[in-house]
Amino acid sequence: MIDQPYVYGHRELAEPDWRRLPGWADVPDSDWESAQWQRAHCVKNIRQLHQVIGDGLDEGFYADLERDQAERATMSMLVTPQMINTMVPGRAPADPGFTAEFYADPVRRYMIPVFSDRHPEWPSHPRASRDSLHEAEMWPVEGLTHRYPTKVLAEVLQTCPQYCGHCTRMDLVGNPTTVINKYRFELGRDDRLAAMLDYLRAHPGVRDVVVSGGDVANLPWPRLESFVASLLEIDSIRDIRLATKALMGLPQFWLADDVRAGMERLVATARRRDVSIAIHTHVNSAQSVTPLVARAAKAMLGTGIRDVRNQGVLLRGTNDTAARLLDLCFALLDDAKIMPYYFYMCDMIPGSEHWRLSLAQAQQLQHDIMGYLPGFATPRVVCDVPYVGKRWVHQVARYDRDLGISYWTKNYRTGVELDDAFALEREYEYYDPIDVLPESGQEYWRSEARSPLPAAG
Ligand code: SF4
Repeated sequence: MIDQPYVYGHRELAEPDWRRLPGWADVPDSDWESAQWQRAHCVKNIRQLHQVIGDGLDEGFYADLERDQAERATMSMLVTPQMINTMVPGRAPADPGFTAEFYADPVRRYMIPVFSDRHPEWPSHPRASRDSLHEAEMWPVEGLTHRYPTKVLAEVLQTCPQYCGHCTRMDLVGNPTTVINKYRFELGRDDRLAAMLDYLRAHPGVRDVVVSGGDVANLPWPRLESFVASLLEIDSIRDIRLATKALMGLPQFWLADDVRAGMERLVATARRRDVSIAIHTHVNSAQSVTPLVARAAKAMLGTGIRDVRNQGVLLRGTNDTAARLLDLCFALLDDAKIMPYYFYMCDMIPGSEHWRLSLAQAQQLQHDIMGYLPGFATPRVVCDVPYVGKRWVHQVARYDRDLGISYWTKNYRTGVELDDAFALEREYEYYDPIDVLPESGQEYWRSEARSPLPAAG
């Protein structure tokens, strides 16, 4: 009998033993399960990484990391112990070959990027830009992106408990790096949130609010609860989605008694008002789904929220095969009860070329994951096209594979096109990473880089 391309097997979730890491050899369960301890022991720099991992990593790795931070990184380093512990699970730094395994680790690849990861000729696409989705252009009030007709994105804060190397909001989120200064909100937090609520009260056509940032787990819970409670008082709002990678990166936060009790209060109000509250998280690799993550997801479902959904990002070296995507989806679905929902193509921000996949690769992955998961849990692979929004990868209108340019259309006006009669007739472009193009396509971009044309759009 011939094997199926993917063979499912239920995988028991396991928490890797953090005591294998020299810096945390004596950390008791009670500390590990405390959100405060996790926040206080995040790895923020090379010295702290060295203290945790010890001499098991070659000096060359630390030099590679240092060079990336000096010349390329768009996000500063911030990795929770929970996430460090899922890198190279089951192996100790003293084990032979640890450095090579650390380099190859799917979580390390995007949380602790190093210089040698990046493409030497094309670290960035020539059309890459900060705020590549033009979210700030679509702010009717600071931090509130009104891109789709019926839904908005509320960027309530600029920080997260962990910083991902490929963060699409690298323009806004986190601390400045050597190469990237961050945009800072002009309004104070409370004035900004009040202005968002005023806008939503005045625009009853908006029914769905994604409360994001940053990561809502970094807003003090009473402030988050009061903002969501105010949303619940607006009659037109029917769906509220809380965006938090911390459900995976810092599950201890979502397991805390005060957070669970607060969510129960919000859900009770939401039920009376017939509103759905859901959590959207961001998990990119099966090894990130541990028993603590599953407990946090189930604790939140236990409060009565509508769902916990995952929006991962397709990243080379992390999840760019059908087997890795399916392993992740089954880990989420089987024991954590997290619904696989989207896989985004990585956005065209600076420094992301080595992570990005071509549209053709994304289409192939969508094809290859079909039929294994239940239909309701089969994630859509989507491209977030600048000035358009999310499009399923097979919705492309035209595709020049030689130059790696895909052309997309849309069926609604974003917030910046309400007076534009031609917005729905235009085609909008997305670009494949150059290093995967045929030689003729690569040569086109080299010659363009020598005499750049005005950016299309
Ligand atoms: S958690 Fe989300 S917002 Fe925060 S750094 Fe990661 S991708 Fe960016």
